Amino acid sequence: MGREHWDVVIVGGAVTGSSTAWWLLRTDPALRVLVVEKDPTYARAATALSVASIRQQFSNPVNVEISRFGIDFIRNFSRHVGPAGGVASLGLRENGYLFLSGTEAGAALMEDLAAMQRGLGAATEVLGVETLRKRFPWMRFDDVVAGSLGARDEGWFDNMGLLNGLRNAARGLGAVYRTGEVTNVVREGDRITGVTLAEGDDLGAGAVLCAAGTGAPALCRMVGADLPVEPRKRTVFVIDAPNARHPDAPLLIDHTGFYLRPEHNHWITATVPDDDRVCDLDDWEPDAGQFEETIWERLYGRAEGFDAAKVMRLWVGHYDYNLLDQNAVLGLWPGLSNFYVAAGFSGHGLQQAPAVGRGLSELILTGGYRTLDLSPLGPDRIARGVPMLEKAIV
Ligand SMILES: Cc1cc2nc3c(=O)[nH]c(=O)nc-3n(C[C@H](O)[C@H](O)[C@H](O)COP(=O)(O)OP(=O)(O)OC[C@H]3O[C@@H](n4cnc5c(N)ncnc54)[C@H](O)[C@@H]3O)c2cc1C
Repeated sequence: MGREHWDVVIVGGAVTGSSTAWWLLRTDPALRVLVVEKDPTYARAATALSVASIRQQFSNPVNVEISRFGIDFIRNFSRHVGPAGGVASLGLRENGYLFLSGTEAGAALMEDLAAMQRGLGAATEVLGVETLRKRFPWMRFDDVVAGSLGARDEGWFDNMGLLNGLRNAARGLGAVYRTGEVTNVVREGDRITGVTLAEGDDLGAGAVLCAAGTGAPALCRMVGADLPVEPRKRTVFVIDAPNARHPDAPLLIDHTGFYLRPEHNHWITATVPDDDRVCDLDDWEPDAGQFEETIWERLYGRAEGFDAAKVMRLWVGHYDYNLLDQNAVLGLWPGLSNFYVAAGFSGHGLQQAPAVGRGLSELILTGGYRTLDLSPLGPDRIARGVPMLEKAIV
């Protein structure tokens, strides 16, 4: 018996891999698509550990356009994927994002970005302090110059619903999910001919997509590709603040260095550690002190009702952090004719999965982008060392 051959092998079956599998098969149902996932529980995939929010407020137009499509897909999920997804709704809560700035320069930048975002169809408004006080009477704005608010198309949703729905729908169209770890990608000249799994199986591949999150750099090294992505630890806190009941609160991005959003009757909050740096791939120890040491005082100063705040639970997730510019790296790897990458999302990849899957399916099937041009996020910028910096990194 000859070895198994697949038209496309996708390494990593979380949201990016599953979205691409679904888009590929939706376009070409005859395609043989294999998704290899080493942990089908997804316990440590960023997809499962995400804060699951979507915004239009990015500094790069291509990211705004990705989220323009993302919000429609997430809002109308069952219409997009159909009954095979098995998920009726992603429970989108459209409370908006509120970015604060404490400087005139920051406020001026907000105005520029809001104009760019509105030009692409978003509804970003820059509000002065008096307006902020009227809109959010339970917050204090003494140290604030302006706030940038997404009046619609921003909020949070069900991350596992997105993953499961896409995976079910991909399977419904014929994608095969296989549990296994890809330990080698076989390269002959400029072509990838197949992958090897940990248990020794060799599988032939017409094309390979690396959608392996923090596992992507190791996979890329197997074909001689140097992806400047590293794991960065983020500790997320769910807190109970019984005196702070503001279910309509936006997702607050506070310039003092934390974010906060409602989560049912509780709140989710997190910060970026001062000594943010690469972490070990098996470091899942929460930085439990961050709430007391960094977040709580800032939170207490910002809003009423956080005098009594108790950590109910906390978890650690790893960003696949792109050192060059904190943006996704998407597309065909330069010098290779059939090895594609989708990684380096740096904390905003869940909302990007619908547009990224669509774009990569176009690229793999037709050699170019047909709907939204994702080439500004192409891997060639790495070899050229030309960053496409994302200023609105959370
Ligand atoms: C704390 C936190 C908060 C976040 N908040 C948001 C947010 O609010 N909004 C947003 O849009 N994004 C957010 N993100 C980012 C978002 O969750 C990720 O960008 C997105 O889920 C990435 O999906 P992925 O499929 O590319 O990677 P992952 O979800 O990491 O999945 C990669 C998969 O590849 C598998 N894999 C790896 N190596 C191999 C191998 N060799 N063989 C087989 N399988 C392999 C892994 O097991 C894993 O299942 C957040 C992330 C974190 C950690």
